[in-house]
Amino acid sequence: MNPQEAWNAALNQLEVQLDRANFDTWLRGTTYLGFENPAEGPAIFTIGVRNTFARDMLEHRLYRSVRRILSDAYGVPVELRFEIVKAAPAVESPDGDMPLFRLLAQQDPAEEALPLHQQVVRPQRPEMPESELNPRYTFERFVVGGVNNLTYSAAQAVAENPASVYNPLLIYGGVGLGKTHLLQSIAHTCRKKNLNVIYIPSEAFINDLVNAIRQRTTAMFREKYRSLDVLLVDDIQFIAGKESTQEEFFHTFNALYTFNKQIVLASDRHPRHLETLEDRLRSRFEGGLLMDVQTPEYETRVAIVESWAQERGIRVPRSVTEMIAERASSNIRELEGLFTQIVAKSRLSAQPLNRNDAETVLERFERPRNHGRPSITVEQVFEIVAKHHQLGIRDLTSKTRAGRINHARQIAMYMARELTDASLPQIGDMLGGRSHTTVLHGYHKVVEMMAEDDRFRYEMTALREKLMKNND
Ligand code: ADP
Ligand code: MG
Repeated sequence: MNPQEAWNAALNQLEVQLDRANFDTWLRGTTYLGFENPAEGPAIFTIGVRNTFARDMLEHRLYRSVRRILSDAYGVPVELRFEIVKAAPAVESPDGDMPLFRLLAQQDPAEEALPLHQQVVRPQRPEMPESELNPRYTFERFVVGGVNNLTYSAAQAVAENPASVYNPLLIYGGVGLGKTHLLQSIAHTCRKKNLNVIYIPSEAFINDLVNAIRQRTTAMFREKYRSLDVLLVDDIQFIAGKESTQEEFFHTFNALYTFNKQIVLASDRHPRHLETLEDRLRSRFEGGLLMDVQTPEYETRVAIVESWAQERGIRVPRSVTEMIAERASSNIRELEGLFTQIVAKSRLSAQPLNRNDAETVLERFERPRNHGRPSITVEQVFEIVAKHHQLGIRDLTSKTRAGRINHARQIAMYMARELTDASLPQIGDMLGGRSHTTVLHGYHKVVEMMAEDDRFRYEMTALREKLMKNND
């Protein structure tokens, strides 16, 4: 089989193996560009992709699967390189499962009277207080670290090319991790392009609908939402279980989607865990690109605090920044709370910010990340991590560096640093006298794996939740 044929065969195989959204978004439309067979090392395929985001995804998240399947197809282990090809054929929009006639059949009868073109006429921009944006929530002000890198790129790709790359885009994850910030960043960017954009929390959407029904202005309501270029709905989880809102939103969604308008959603969890969400909405949401947000790693938290300090023109000593980042290890809103308190305190006392002030403020917070619960101990971390890996604590503290044990030990290092007060040297000591650099290395290893491997990341989230819950 020649390289070109091998790539085609691999693509066919990938189409079967990957889920449809993944394949359509990243692999459909890729092109074989070339092949090298250096004297040393494996052969390299060069594949053309549409944009940097697709390249990132293929180089990181999907690399292993693609390489394995292509190697099988070609018969020997190979590597891949991805290049951006501007003129690559546009991806077919994955709306095969949503033919127009079916969409029209789903529209409610009252609507049939209204010709389709009228549904996309732009209204004069009415006053829309619900879509006011926080000027601070921009891409520039979003600090990108390891774990949320891809989610950030996805949001940017959508903002740059609305309705042409990922539609809908759904960002999900726990509270205070930047979902609203990213949604509004997209909204800002699209407004700058003079697109017709509404950003709205789902509760406001529900209110708007209720008012429209009460005042018999549902036609206007529909026109307003269905004539947008970009609709961003935040906290979409709240529409689950609300029948008529879901009904209306379903039609809004379809109308926008059919006319190739961008939809962006944020949810506090994966749609599959929104139990009372109607199936037809769930499948629409899952048919797009789903990206999660995670707690940023320690270094990113430090960088975020530094960016806030810089923005406000205040000098914060590194020791204080680091202390804040250590304490606020579950989300960024908490980080912001600590930072604001410390800054307020230093303003009041007209003193330059120092570590002592910071300590005083933080003491008052009393380990806010535990919300009054006793803090998690290193021993608890070891116990749960060991159990999760079917090991004993003794294995973690032992000298052995066998792969499986070492892996569990690195996870223990990561969790201990994230969830307890212990310093790196203390964690190292408790792990059988290891140095703080070893602990730091282990920590980074885990961060790296989380950035590359979805399944591993979910495993870490579950483990973290288990530890927090255990402490309730
Ligand atoms: P969510 O909507 O996920 O609950 P938000 O978007 O409201 O979270 O974020 C909480 C706060 O943290 C906001 O003030 C936001 O600007 C800030 N924030 C979150 N992530 C980042 C980041 N990576 N860089 C800078 N600020 C961030
Ligand atoms: Mg939010």
